Amino acid sequence: MAADPSSDTPQPVADLDWSPARARAFGERTLDLWERFLTELPSLPVAGAWTADEVAAAVARPVPEEPLTDDELFAYLRDVTFDWSMYPGHPRFMAYITGTGTVPGAAADLLASGLNMNLGGWRLSPSGTEIELLLLRWFAEQFGLPEGAGGLLTSGGAMANFVALKTARDHRAGWDIRATGVQAGPPLALYASEEVHVTTDREADMLGLGAEAVRKIPVDAEYRMRVDDLERAIARDRAAGLRPFAVVATAGTVATGAVDPLPEIAGLCARESLWMHVDGAYGGPAVLAEDLRPLFHGIERADSIAFDPHKWMYTPHSGGCVLMRDARHLTESFAAHAGYVHEDKERTGHGPDLGMMGPQFSRGFQALKVWVSLLAHGRRAYARRISHDAELARYMAGQVRARRDFELMAPVPLSICCFRYAPDDLPAGTPGRDEYLDELNERLMTAVQLDGRAYCSNAILHGRFVLRACIVNFRTEAGDCDATLDVASELGEKLDAELRPEHLRASA
Ligand SMILES: *Cc1c(COP(=O)(O)O)cnc(C)c1O
Repeated sequence: MAADPSSDTPQPVADLDWSPARARAFGERTLDLWERFLTELPSLPVAGAWTADEVAAAVARPVPEEPLTDDELFAYLRDVTFDWSMYPGHPRFMAYITGTGTVPGAAADLLASGLNMNLGGWRLSPSGTEIELLLLRWFAEQFGLPEGAGGLLTSGGAMANFVALKTARDHRAGWDIRATGVQAGPPLALYASEEVHVTTDREADMLGLGAEAVRKIPVDAEYRMRVDDLERAIARDRAAGLRPFAVVATAGTVATGAVDPLPEIAGLCARESLWMHVDGAYGGPAVLAEDLRPLFHGIERADSIAFDPHKWMYTPHSGGCVLMRDARHLTESFAAHAGYVHEDKERTGHGPDLGMMGPQFSRGFQALKVWVSLLAHGRRAYARRISHDAELARYMAGQVRARRDFELMAPVPLSICCFRYAPDDLPAGTPGRDEYLDELNERLMTAVQLDGRAYCSNAILHGRFVLRACIVNFRTEAGDCDATLDVASELGEKLDAELRPEHLRASA
């Protein structure tokens, strides 16, 4: 082959490098789909009754060697959006704790991805890092944390709690646990109520402590941690040679929304030199609502707080947040020194690298969707809507009490209403009634979820299976609460006719 000097010069490969006009055309078709979705959402079923095999077959496509046409691609995305999805932003979605997804947040996500800054390093994300820092300082203020507080956005509450507990472990163990590990000292113990989120066990496991290091403290009649039992458990563990290091207080339990007695727990932590972490993954944003804020009195004394913008601040998935009373603890717990990211910050005047303050190294610009949502809606809109969600949960509790075929199963301090279907010809005290209602309500929850007109989930309270509606949804209104109870009542009556055993019929 003849040597052509120019053939040594690589020729452009521009397949991936779309022009601005091409980007716009593609973006506009995406916006068309999004607009149609927002328009049709209230009339779509909340969810469908599909099996995994059906969905897998419907969404599967071979990865093409050559590009799909836009028509083919958007036909496919339309199917995924409208035929094979379920919608946590649907007005009648009230399950688990899954937020609506703010509209400006979704738009901000497009811009954040478009810019593609890396918030692991300040120099890779100057505006991004500064926005995350100021957002976190603002959050810290809302919780009443002092000057010097700060934090980090995380993938969600589980990771926020993990970061907080890692920091607590490192700071309170009493030896260089980052270097020598948990095996270099006495066994560590931490404390949380029986109603704590399940991921706390996994966090203890991930910290090398083992899930059994999480001591589960009994709760009172309103599902709040019993501080007298907490105090006894700490004393017992100290006497047995363990090293207690932290208490996880929950501000808004996942089952009923209970808020642990924060001032008493803060006092105990101060006396016992324990780290006070507050898991407010669900409830935390309620500090923005004037009427709910008093429930959170004492949270300002926490060493760390976790809460989820993607739950009760409605921002799109995913985005959690960990706040530290002293932001420097994050660096102490997560700093790592890589020779290949050398920087002379003295000379450049650059700010901190968030990748050195948490478990992630490269990080996306999650802060933008949270920040833009706040800018576009304003703080007062959040205060009003969070308060309204709680008002709706109380309204639903009132409807449950007023109907003959339902029972209210827990207090409603925040925006969760726990209830069960209980036909009124089956009086309380009938032997076997509770066991039958467990079975009936379990079947009923599945029936509601498959029905498509409404969507709720469940809780287990004192061993009883109950239905649970959690409203962290700015599209839900009173009519949706009524409709959910109507659907549960209709399907419950049908299931009861099928399932009720003979001996319970006889009592009618
Ligand atoms: C949801 C929740 C978590 C877990 O948060 P994710 O965002 O799902 O990771 C932890 N604790 C409580 C109290 C929660 O409600």
